[in-house]
Amino acid sequence: MANDADGTEVSRRNYLKLGGATLAGVSFASVGSAVMDRGSDDGDEGAQASNTVLIQDGTVVTVDPERGVLDEADILVRDGEIDAIGSDIDAPAADVVDASDSIVVPGFVNAHLHTWESGVRGVAGNWTFLEYLEKMLGEISSHYRPEDAYLGNLFGAVQQLNAGTTTVLDWFHIANTPDHTDRAIDGLADAGIRSLFVHGPPGDDSATWWSNSDEPHPDDIRRLHEERFPSEDGLLTLGMGIRGPDYSTDEVVTQDIELAREIGIPASMHIGSLGPGGVSKLDELGLLGDDLNYVHANRLTEEEFQLIGESGGSVSTTPEVELQMGMGMPALGDAIDAGAIPSVGVDIVSNVSDDMFTQNRMALQVQRGLDNQPTVEANEQIQDVSLTAHRALEFATIEGARALGLDDEIGSLTPGKRADITVIDTDDLNTAASHNPVETVVFQSGIENVDTVLVDGNVVKRNGLIHNPTAQNHLDRLEASGRRIMRESDL
Ligand SMILES: [Zn+2]
Repeated sequence: MANDADGTEVSRRNYLKLGGATLAGVSFASVGSAVMDRGSDDGDEGAQASNTVLIQDGTVVTVDPERGVLDEADILVRDGEIDAIGSDIDAPAADVVDASDSIVVPGFVNAHLHTWESGVRGVAGNWTFLEYLEKMLGEISSHYRPEDAYLGNLFGAVQQLNAGTTTVLDWFHIANTPDHTDRAIDGLADAGIRSLFVHGPPGDDSATWWSNSDEPHPDDIRRLHEERFPSEDGLLTLGMGIRGPDYSTDEVVTQDIELAREIGIPASMHIGSLGPGGVSKLDELGLLGDDLNYVHANRLTEEEFQLIGESGGSVSTTPEVELQMGMGMPALGDAIDAGAIPSVGVDIVSNVSDDMFTQNRMALQVQRGLDNQPTVEANEQIQDVSLTAHRALEFATIEGARALGLDDEIGSLTPGKRADITVIDTDDLNTAASHNPVETVVFQSGIENVDTVLVDGNVVKRNGLIHNPTAQNHLDRLEASGRRIMRESDL
């Protein structure tokens, strides 16, 4: 590694690519802890050079019960698919990623993110949930223009990749015009991330859309399904972000879920963070099903969790947001106990950490604390912790994939699945000396240790550098967008 004039790390490969340019005059746009690769706009040989990639000599945590953890293993990726996992795989033409001193895991699945909010980071760290509804969905979101939606989604998604997350459920609730929606989808596409794009309501009138709303879901979703998501293959798929029983009338809830089912896409809703009763209402209306995703769910009753479990639904826990904003304790354990699919997400980058390392670790430790507490209160001693580190890694990978209906394609390192892969350095100060790869990933690792990331076989981050010809050198556009939005918001 070399250093530029600002002390920013630059990979040797990158340094060489600059040729005769003097580094002193070059500014490197940072994305989180990473440095953007400065490949030219008309093609970046560092990014997607080969359709065959060999990840060599890694400690491979497959999250596949049949394969477990493999030492000094290779993964052969061919045409975007995991072709083989084993020892000493011979692939002379492959682009080789050296994974010695590294742990290789499935790319993380962030099961709940409002990606557009990356343009307004650091505004909501002291807000309650009601303040969020009033200020974010009642004010800030109305000042987003289509280009702001694009920039928020592009850079928000690139940062997810930077943090080792290869799939996001993007819950988009600033569908203010069809242009907003189209540009948000463009942002995800230009980021190169895998995403279930969940089309929600407009963000320009919260009284109409979020308060016992009698407005059915925007009909634009039919156009999207036909024009933007004609096939179910590819990195981007479509879902519907419904308001659900906590925010809309019974008629609208029924109409929205029926519309999602008519189109044949899953529906996701925020529920149970203001109070119980929403899932009972869905049951009463005869609407429960395995195509429904329940976000937060903190205050649902035990019976409601049972209904989710029995109907095959998934629960998405976003612990940092829920703890801050007064939604209630995270409901991960309730979801597991009821047999619902347990997944973890970030939710709002305007106030919390945007990486799955942090959120997943918090989800695990908070649940352990909740499970320990009755024993502590009885003044007795804990004999075993309730959830293992490996189980937590499953929440961030295969369970997230199940929640998004993508577990046949991603979520574990299994031959035949798509190659969404994250490589984590174990020779960094905070990861060495690693004795248990699962614990190193779950408890010690962070964004700074994410060395290499593949999505669908494409190398989107390598040697700690993000490769994205569209985003590189344009972070100032996101900053300008965010500044204008906050200036115009009457807060
Ligand atoms: Zn949310």
